Formats: sequence, structure tokens, C-alpha cells
Amino acid sequence: MSGIYIHIPFCKQACHYCDFHFSTNLTRQQEVVDALIRELSLRKDEFRGVNVESIYFGGGTPSLLTPQQVQLILEHIGKNFQMSGNPEITLEANPDDLDKQKIYDLSTLGINRLSIGVQSFFEADLRLMNRSHNVQQAIECLDLARALFDNISIDLIYGIPGRSLRDWKSNIVTIARWELPHISSYALTVEPKTALAHQIKMGTVSNIDEAAAHRQFEYMVQTLVADGFEHYEISNFGKPGYYSKNNTAYWLGKTYMGIGPSAHSYNGKERSWNIRNNKKYLDAIQESTLPSTVEKLSEVDRYNEKIMTGLRTQWGVDLHTLTEEFGKRYMEYALEQAKPHIKRGVLSLEGQYLKSTAKGKFLIDGIASELFMVNLG
Ligand code: SF4
Repeated sequence: MSGIYIHIPFCKQACHYCDFHFSTNLTRQQEVVDALIRELSLRKDEFRGVNVESIYFGGGTPSLLTPQQVQLILEHIGKNFQMSGNPEITLEANPDDLDKQKIYDLSTLGINRLSIGVQSFFEADLRLMNRSHNVQQAIECLDLARALFDNISIDLIYGIPGRSLRDWKSNIVTIARWELPHISSYALTVEPKTALAHQIKMGTVSNIDEAAAHRQFEYMVQTLVADGFEHYEISNFGKPGYYSKNNTAYWLGKTYMGIGPSAHSYNGKERSWNIRNNKKYLDAIQESTLPSTVEKLSEVDRYNEKIMTGLRTQWGVDLHTLTEEFGKRYMEYALEQAKPHIKRGVLSLEGQYLKSTAKGKFLIDGIASELFMVNLG
């Protein structure tokens, strides 16, 4: 299974917490679309003989693309890559970009999954985060999208300063009305050099309350699981049959090709990433060169990644596969490091699988890093 990720590096305005790559100058959108198509051509041999099972338009804000631009990109992929029979084709969208006509157009172009950035149903949260939409737009967009799309995911952010558990419960209750099959929910994090980091430093926004975020996460897990969702990755919940194929491929270590400024790729041995600058990206593609940096992963890097992604998913870390891939000493190291965590109930051993428990999930990144290998010597 392989996937193609297309990065659309434009946003109408900068959300205060965001450190993704984007520009708020939208004038070069068509030029970038042309360059994306050119990059796809330059790299088509990388997936020779491989079925593409998912295409993901991420960003940035892919819903800023016109339907014609989406169509151009999809047609180009269809002509140059071998597609599986029923690829998952996702487009990330902001609610203020989707009206009835746009949703209809996207549905006729082959987009079969929408990932809608709702984030919160509180106006004050949207303003605090500098989102470009308001609550009414989110509600209208979900109503319209639900009429034409079966496979919809929404993004919600928990741990927003000032939000109580009661408020968060109301967000979870609100989303139930659309009976959505997929929810991605991330804690608000303070990334360096963002407006949010600056506001917290200046005292105009309160700092993140970790304990409150933890309570909101636990409430969400309990409620969504009781409602039939599978908590298949730490930040992702899907009804059976609705896991994101694109993201699951990342977590299971499958190959993917990232197209566009700042997009990352993985070919099974090496990671590479394109330059995070629209102008430099355009100049390089114009010259038919790939503006990317390649990193060959060491054995230790690959082991550490396997531990991190495995413990974040419901599948856990398969110790048999770990032994086959890295040798017995890596497996024994992982098990030895896991022992104290198993004892305190944050990890569990189920047959050959090392997994995070309900108690360990919120803290899993820190726990996983304690199983990392720095240098076995
Ligand atoms: S819309 Fe998405 S990519 Fe753009 S600034 Fe907001 S969070 Fe970042």
C-alpha cells in the first residue's frame, strides 16, 4: 500500500497555534498547482509497479483550491500512477471554504473523504486560535457535507485555555448530531515561535492546563468508545471500516510520496522532505530539480520509530516482527525498558504485542521515548 500526499501551502490567515508550512499570500496558487503537477511527473517512477491506495490533500488549506485545480491534480495522478480499484481520496477543508456548490463539485471529482477543521463549537475558542471560520459556518458546512459525503472526519482541539470539562462535553455532545464516522482530536500544543507562544509569554493568554487537557482526553475516549468508535490511534477515532487509510499507512510504516513545499516522503529506507519555502520550491521545480533533503534512517532510528508509532496505535508493537527486523537484542531491550511501565499499568503485554493501556495513552509519547535506544554500542 502506498499513498500520495499533496501539500497545499496556503491559508487565508494564520491560526495562532500553527507551525505547519503555509503562506497567506494567495497570489501564486496556480503557479504552485502547476509545480505540484510537475513534481508528480518528475517522481512518477518512484512508485512504478506500486498501487496507490490513498491520496491526501493536506496543508495549509486544500479547500482554497478551485474544483478545476483539484481536478487537474487528480487527473494527472490518474494518468501517471497505477491506482488501486478504490483509492481513498481525502481533502482537508476549512468550514468557511465549503458551500453547497463546492461540496457538490468536490464529490463529483472523486474526492470521497472530507476532513473538516472544526476545532471547537465555542466562538471564543475560534477567536483565540484565530481560525478563519465561526461556529455557524461549521454547523452549516457539516449539514451540507453530510448530505453528500458518507466518509467525513472532523478535527477537534482539546485543552484550550479557559475551557472547562463541561464545555468540552458540550463539544462532544454537539458532534454526535451528525453521526460522523471519524474524529481526529489533538491537544492544543504551544509550538515555539507561534503567536500563541508569544501570547502566553506576554500573559495575554493563560498557559495550557495539562491536568484539564488530560481530563478532557479521558472523557472523550470513554464517550466515543461507548458510542462505537474504535480508538485506533492516540488522536484518532473511527467507526469500523472508517479508519483513515492515509494515516494508517504512515503508522504502519508503509511508503508514501509527499508532493509540494515542506511535504515529507518515505520509501522504506529513507525519509526526505521538500523545502519549506514556496518561492524556492517553485524555482527548483522550474529547473526540474527536486528541492528535497534526504535522510537515510539508521537501524536505531527505524527501531525508535517503530516503538513510537506502534505504542500510539491500537495494534501495539509486534515483538515477533521487532525480532525479525532488528534482532533479538532490540526486542529484549524494548521488553526490559517496558517492564516498569507494565508494572505501573501504563503498558501491557498481550501475547506478542506490547500495547499502551487506557491509563497510559495520554502519556504515551513520554513512555515510548523511554523505550528508545540512543546507542546500543
Ligand atoms: S488553517 Fe490549518 S494550516 Fe492553516 S494556519 Fe490554520 S491550522 Fe495552520
